[in-house]
Amino acid sequence: MRTTDKKMVSENLHLNNALKEHFGFDQFKGEQKEIIESILNKNDTFVIMPTGGGKSLCYQLPALISEGVTVVISPLIALMKNQVDLVRSFSEKEQVAHFLNSSLTKAQQRQVKGDLENGITRLLYVAPETLTKEENIEFLSGLNISFFAVDEAHCISEWGHDFRPEYRKLREMMKEIGKDIPIIALTATATPKVQDDIVKNLELENTNTFIASFNRPNLYYEIVPKINKNQTLRHMVRFISKNKGKSGVIYALNRRTTEELAAMLMANGIKAVAYHAGLESGLRAKRQDQFLKDEVDVIVATIAFGMGIDKPDVRFVLHYDVPKSIENYYQETGRAGRDGLKSSCILYYSYKDVEKLEHLMRDKPLSEREMGAQLIDEMLAYTESGACRRRLLLHYFGEKSNIENCGYCDNCINPKEPLDVKDSVKIILDAVKELHEKVGINYLVDFVLGVKTPQIITYKHDQCKTFASGQIMEMDAPFWQSLIRQMMLEGFIRKDIEEYGLIKITKEGEKFLKNPFAIKVPLNHEYRDMDESDLENEVTNETEHLDPVLFEDLMKIREKVARKHDIPPYTVFFEQSLEDMCSLYPTNMEELQRIYGVNQGKALKFGRPFINHIATYVEENDIIKPDDFVMKNVASKSGIKVFIIQNIDRQIPLENIASAKNLSIEELIEAMEEIVYGGTKLNVNYLLEDIDEDDLEEILDYFREVEEDNLEEICAEFSDYDIEYEQFQLIRLKFLNDFGF
Ligand SMILES: [Zn+2]
Repeated sequence: MRTTDKKMVSENLHLNNALKEHFGFDQFKGEQKEIIESILNKNDTFVIMPTGGGKSLCYQLPALISEGVTVVISPLIALMKNQVDLVRSFSEKEQVAHFLNSSLTKAQQRQVKGDLENGITRLLYVAPETLTKEENIEFLSGLNISFFAVDEAHCISEWGHDFRPEYRKLREMMKEIGKDIPIIALTATATPKVQDDIVKNLELENTNTFIASFNRPNLYYEIVPKINKNQTLRHMVRFISKNKGKSGVIYALNRRTTEELAAMLMANGIKAVAYHAGLESGLRAKRQDQFLKDEVDVIVATIAFGMGIDKPDVRFVLHYDVPKSIENYYQETGRAGRDGLKSSCILYYSYKDVEKLEHLMRDKPLSEREMGAQLIDEMLAYTESGACRRRLLLHYFGEKSNIENCGYCDNCINPKEPLDVKDSVKIILDAVKELHEKVGINYLVDFVLGVKTPQIITYKHDQCKTFASGQIMEMDAPFWQSLIRQMMLEGFIRKDIEEYGLIKITKEGEKFLKNPFAIKVPLNHEYRDMDESDLENEVTNETEHLDPVLFEDLMKIREKVARKHDIPPYTVFFEQSLEDMCSLYPTNMEELQRIYGVNQGKALKFGRPFINHIATYVEENDIIKPDDFVMKNVASKSGIKVFIIQNIDRQIPLENIASAKNLSIEELIEAMEEIVYGGTKLNVNYLLEDIDEDDLEEILDYFREVEEDNLEEICAEFSDYDIEYEQFQLIRLKFLNDFGF
């Protein structure tokens, strides 16, 4: 055996023993050992490792076995405390790890400094702010420092998902503390752009870089188009009900939404709580604890939740709003399935939400806005893509993968028919070439489509040979957008890191240009064009799933009941209520009250023949009723309702009620209709005083005669009366009040 080999064997043994001694593990995970050796050999080391990969151990173990103290820079006080507790839990000596930050009293600070001077402490956690204080720098420079560890190093980059300006000054401060002290930088997410920023900012030299795979094979990724709120809520409740008793996190953009969603879930029998930065810290800690202890199943949170939370059995992460960047998305979905078991990540996507995000940035400085817009743009490209989600994510993080079909994302399970795009790819590459690789995606799309934007005219690009060269394909802008994204994924072009966003041709692209070959790619989903008419389609689709036989029966029963009470059928139950009955099969009074538009009064008054019939029907046809799935309205909404009822009772003008609750008159009347349809009386007579009494009588009579209440038709019928649409709505309310129940 040569001496070097001998040395390696003994080091190997030494490290393995240390691992067992300090952490109780028998084996290193992934590249942990190589990383530790790198920093022990005093090399600058850069570690990119997804959460759950055993990142902290990479600096903790070498710190524990090195001479002197390791200074760990960490962005959050809460995170620091957890880490220190963890290290201490393995040691007999409390003093082995300390943190130094603004939360300590003067006496505590003295204690920490004393331990450091006595050389007992191996790990010192500091916030970047601590290093901005001259006295701290002076103190640290007097110590024997083994190495610096910069945790969450992506905070250095404005392109990361939580940029911290103080991180920018770290290098300077480290130099003041001591020269030639090696650095290990660690992060759980980093795109090539962020990696580049980290290396430059920390002036890492001859760095050993370790990148662990970002693939999380046990996570299922799916995008669900969000056409309207109700449909999304239904989807959510259904999904969570199917996963009853399992832990999940729902992310929403703002605090109000988290509260609303949690209330809605609770109304539907799901144990859920909201979590956001606006809550008092005691309550936040309590809710976090409830979640960790499985006392609540679902936590509905803003991004404030999750830093430092390590619950291994989170089975699903839902995004109610589109995240601000892919890094956020990856980080948040990454909280699912830490135990390696299958878990789902569903994102509800609407282009409107993207516009909302953009709107939120309007007051930010220009540079930040531009950066934010690019990050959102990447997110958008991800959601709308028809390609494998896993492949897209890995590509985003600069990881090469050979995945064509992962079999565990929506796009791979339901693949889109790929399109032959050989000619179009050639058009794009030729255009990029003629424009000297100096333009971004949107410019390029306008260019090949022959759009004469002011910029294109200014640069005289409309005189280029390849200007408008894409017209021949007869495809629209979304096609070209989608194609360019696919070309990046296939490696024909790339976005430049220095001049971010500019498109450059890769070697692969050059090869294609020399010798074009057939290529097929799946194009984007067209979520953006979905609108209300798609919604109608969807509703009809849903209706098709309803039980048509039962529906017919219930319509007949409704007619009978209406005749008996001498009222129009729709005042018994709405058609929508009947539809709801045909999918939920209520067979007792309690269940009936959970049907859309049915309250206790209505259920008791008209419900009996309906539930009797449904019960027989269910039994005769061996129908399995759906799991107790119901959409219940939310408490906050009922708060508004109570307010409206009280104020109508007090005969307050509609304008005043509306403005008090920030509603439009239209919305207020809608809410009033819901109240009356739900079976509560509202005396609206004072609102109809302007209408001629005879006219009013005549219209009310007409309401009694018609079978269905088509308000437009009624308006048309009385078009020569001097009555506004809103007033017709109010008359109908009066009618329902006086005769309906
Ligand atoms: Zn896939």
